[in-house]
Amino acid sequence: MGKDAEWREIVKAIEECRACPLHRFRRNPVPGEGSLNAQVLFLGEAPGRREDETGRPFVGAAGKLLDELLQEIGLRRGDVFITNVVKCRPPNNRDPKPEEVEACSIHTLRILRLVSPAVIVTLGNHSGRFVYEELMGRSWRGVTRERGRVHDLLLEGRKVKVLSTYHPAAALYNPKLRDRLKDDFSTLRKLLDELSPSRQNINGKRVTILDYIRGSARNEER
Ligand code: URA
Repeated sequence: MGKDAEWREIVKAIEECRACPLHRFRRNPVPGEGSLNAQVLFLGEAPGRREDETGRPFVGAAGKLLDELLQEIGLRRGDVFITNVVKCRPPNNRDPKPEEVEACSIHTLRILRLVSPAVIVTLGNHSGRFVYEELMGRSWRGVTRERGRVHDLLLEGRKVKVLSTYHPAAALYNPKLRDRLKDDFSTLRKLLDELSPSRQNINGKRVTILDYIRGSARNEER
């Protein structure tokens, strides 16, 4: 089965899922979105009100900050994949319960296998704990202690980097956390540069293959 067809199956399975009570409260499930061939997969916590209304992840205030952070390291939403450890909005935006994260893990794992990213970025405590404890067999000591660290995870025989950071919502009104998030996104940029040597910096400007095709990189070098 092709990736698009498998994705449609995953979306259908999430729409029909009754594995935890959250489906009763949602308006729309939020399976995730982005490139199915992305090198980076962001794993958030749970849909909020705007996400529940639209069926899309990170479209509220936290999503705006995520877009800015991506832009600062030369990425757009369409370059990455974004999903959450639970795909339905918890009532009154409460934290997802461990049993809900566990019930939804069947979908999360299918998405991880399908996208097969080179880097998983966990946003906040719930997704950090899920990846550490369920996928890496490591104990999670909280986002303050784990953020910025990079670990290797073997997923379906493939080495994947795991980078944990704060949830963007936590940094919305906290400049100190915002700076740390930015530092962690710089770490992500470095990881991606190491993974794709075809991306290089010339005269301090990031140059992509597209720039070469357009000829702008050649002009810069002259
Ligand atoms: N917060 C999350 O963790 N996920 C979303 O999709 C939106 C806000």
